[in-house]
Amino acid sequence: MHSTSWIEINKDNIKRNLKYLIKRIGKAKFTSVIKGNAYGHGIETYLPVAESCGINSFAVSDAFEAYQAEQVKSDDTELIIMYMIDNGDLQWAIEKDIAYYVFDFDRLEKTLEVSKRIGKKARIHIELETGMNRTGFEEQDLNKLIDILKSNLEHIQFEGICTHFAGAESVANYLRIINQFDKFKKFRDLFNTLRLLPYYYHTACSAAVLTYPETILNMARIGIAQYGFWPSKETRMYNLLSDTNKFTKDPLHRALSWKSKIMTIKNVKAGDFVSYGNSHLALKNEKLAIIPVGYSHGYSRSMSNLGHVLINKKKAPIVGMVNMNLIIADVTNIRDTKINDEVVLIGKQGVHEISVSSFADMANYVNYEMLTRLPDSIPRIIK
Ligand SMILES: *Cc1c(COP(=O)(O)O)cnc(C)c1O
Repeated sequence: MHSTSWIEINKDNIKRNLKYLIKRIGKAKFTSVIKGNAYGHGIETYLPVAESCGINSFAVSDAFEAYQAEQVKSDDTELIIMYMIDNGDLQWAIEKDIAYYVFDFDRLEKTLEVSKRIGKKARIHIELETGMNRTGFEEQDLNKLIDILKSNLEHIQFEGICTHFAGAESVANYLRIINQFDKFKKFRDLFNTLRLLPYYYHTACSAAVLTYPETILNMARIGIAQYGFWPSKETRMYNLLSDTNKFTKDPLHRALSWKSKIMTIKNVKAGDFVSYGNSHLALKNEKLAIIPVGYSHGYSRSMSNLGHVLINKKKAPIVGMVNMNLIIADVTNIRDTKINDEVVLIGKQGVHEISVSSFADMANYVNYEMLTRLPDSIPRIIK
């Protein structure tokens, strides 16, 4: 069955992004973060593309995403679950060799229970609380934690220690990030002194890789940047200003476009109201393109009378309210527009572009939210 819209993923752009980011992190291990359905790009679509570029480690948020990744990944590709695993799924994760974060004593005990029972080592990353105040072992837990880990080394594979920064994309958080990193190093030293050595030390997300390179250590967890988005305008500006070539070329390339086509055309007379309510009054005779995408497909209602789409290489304004399943674009000035013409909701056509960020700004979302709101049910196509 045909879908009313589709998402195209540009493989060459992903390749270029990964190549650039691999260069930025040097010898450290690249873990590709594919939570949120690979930031809207589709886990099943994105993972094999990244694998073909040499990536063999992926981080997801929960067991269900790990299950999705399992279906498409190569045998030697590794998965890490950073957040939720129901206790009932721990056995599955351990049997599948999926690594996961352990951030409290409860998860540690449940892990040891299962690994003893099934006679298989659990691969764990110990998350440390350094100041985000969300998840992770606290400083006062560490001696007890290290004791438990050391006396259970036949039941666990101690893969890593890690933490996550509370907003490395904004200079407003500078002191908080620096303090977090100092704390992490102090905790790392305690592990070293007590002779419990993991393989990986990891703290850096995209923004940290791009602005605090000293935090990369021997592994980085990179999400948004691999899809071609700067974590924030600040991060982009910081990199632009420190680039000797002043970014004659932006090194990050967006890989996602969202497209649909015109379902029908409606001509209205000057003085008529269009769609629900009275938010759009035709001031002239208007030719309108009816497009089969609405807020149920992730096209935000706050784009009503504000957003644009691209049709026949021109910008067409959205008029009236975004409906559940339809939007209406004014094509009065776009000659020869007809049923089935392609509509670009996000992406380029000719010289124009509807960027995720312009879309996100208007809808009051950040890129991250906009991307992950794109429903899983929209088909993803590799281009
Ligand atoms: C989402 C996430 C990342 C990746 O963040 P980006 O800003 O997209 O690079 C890294 N680590 C953790 C724990 C995360 O939740």
